[in-house]
Amino acid sequence: VSSWGNVPAGPPDPILGVTEKFKADTSPKKINLGVGAYRDENGKPYVLPSVQKAEKLLYEAKGDKEYLPITGLAPFTKLAAELAYGKESIPLKEGRLAITQSISGTGALRIGTAFLARFYPGAKAIYLPSPTWGNHIPIAKDSGLEVKQYKYFDKDTVGLDFEGMKQDIESAPEGSIILLHACAHNPTGIDPTEAQWKELSDLFKKKKHFPFFDMAYQGFASGDILKDAFAVRYFVEQGHQLLLCQSFAKNLGLYGERVGAISFVCESPEEKSRVDSQLKIIIRPMYSNPPIHGARLVSAILGSPELYEEWLVEVKGMAERIISMRTKLYNKLVELNTPGEWGHIKSQIGMFSFTGLKPEQVDKLAEKAHIYLTRDGRISMAGLNSGNVEYFAESVSKAVK
Ligand code: PMP
Repeated sequence: VSSWGNVPAGPPDPILGVTEKFKADTSPKKINLGVGAYRDENGKPYVLPSVQKAEKLLYEAKGDKEYLPITGLAPFTKLAAELAYGKESIPLKEGRLAITQSISGTGALRIGTAFLARFYPGAKAIYLPSPTWGNHIPIAKDSGLEVKQYKYFDKDTVGLDFEGMKQDIESAPEGSIILLHACAHNPTGIDPTEAQWKELSDLFKKKKHFPFFDMAYQGFASGDILKDAFAVRYFVEQGHQLLLCQSFAKNLGLYGERVGAISFVCESPEEKSRVDSQLKIIIRPMYSNPPIHGARLVSAILGSPELYEEWLVEVKGMAERIISMRTKLYNKLVELNTPGEWGHIKSQIGMFSFTGLKPEQVDKLAEKAHIYLTRDGRISMAGLNSGNVEYFAESVSKAVK
C-alpha cells in the first residue's frame, strides 16, 4: 500500500485555477483577468527598464553568490524601510526599527504572523477585512493565529462599509491584532480616505489595538509612493507600534524574484535588537536566508538617484495605464447602456476592481466570451488594454442583460 493512500485531494487554488482554465482555452479572443500581475499595452509581462539597467549593472559587477545573512541584504532592508517610512521617520532615525528581508509579501506575512503567534502579549487572533486577499487566511492559520473578520465591503454601494468597519473594530476585545491593507485593498480596490484613516488611528489608540499593515502596492496604487504610504506613515507619526509587510512584486515588477521585507516599530534600540534576535530564530528553520538577486536589484535601483527617478516614472506609468483602462471601461459600459451603476470602476484603486458581477455571470463570461476571472467578480485591471477593453465591456454588457 502507498504511504499516501489516505491523502485527500484538496481544492485547487481559486486564483491560480483561473490561469489554468485560461491556458487551456485556444480562442484568440481570450482574456485572463484573474492573476494580479501587470501587463503592458500588448497584454505582455513587463520588465521595468530600470530593472533591466540594474540587471546589467549587477552582471558587470560580477558579484558572488554567497549566502546572505538570515535577515537579508542590509543595504536593501535600509532602502526598503526608507521607501515605506520616509528617510526622516523617527523610529528609523532613532535606530528602533527591526527589519528583515522576506520571501516577498507572502513571506513577510508568514514571518509576521509567526512572530505574533509566539510573542504577542494579547489574544493570538487576527482580524482580517471581509473580504481580503484569500491567502491571508491560511497564512495566519498556518502560523497558529485564530482568524476573525471585520466588515469592510458594502455590496449595495460597492464601496467601503466604514460604519460597519468601525463598529467591528470597536467591539473587538481591547488589544486585538488587526490587519489593514495599506493601500489598494485586494480584492475590492476600495481604500479608506485620509480622513477615515485618521479616525481609524484614533480608534486603534482608544482600543489599544495592534495595527498589522500589509503594503503590497506602494506606488502602484495611485502612481505616487508618498500618497500610497500615507496610512503607514500617519500611524507611525501617531505613535502606533505597528508591523509592516512590504512586497516589491508589483511596484518593481519583481514577482518571481520574491523580494519583500517585514519591519517592526520598537520602543528602543535595545528592544529592536531583541526583536531582531527572535526574527532570526523564526527565519533560520524556515528557509535559512533569503534569495540574493532580487534584493540586489532593488538596492541598485533605490540606492541610485538616477535609477530611482527612472523607477518613479515607470511605476507612475503602470498606475496611470491602469487608471486609463478604468475610464475606458466605465465609458464603454455606460455607452452600451449596461444595466447597473458602474462608477466604482473609476473610483476603485490599484490592480483590482470588484465589478459586482455574480458567479453565474462570471461563468457565462468564460463560456461565451473566453474571459476568465475569479468567481467573486474581481478583475485584474492590468489584464485590460486598448486592444481588448471594448470587447470586455461588450461581453460584460451581454452577461448582465
Ligand atoms: N498582500 C496582498 C494584499 C497582495 O495582494 C499580495 C499579492 N497578490 C501579497 C500580499 C503578496 O504577494 P507577493 O508574495 O507576491 O509579494
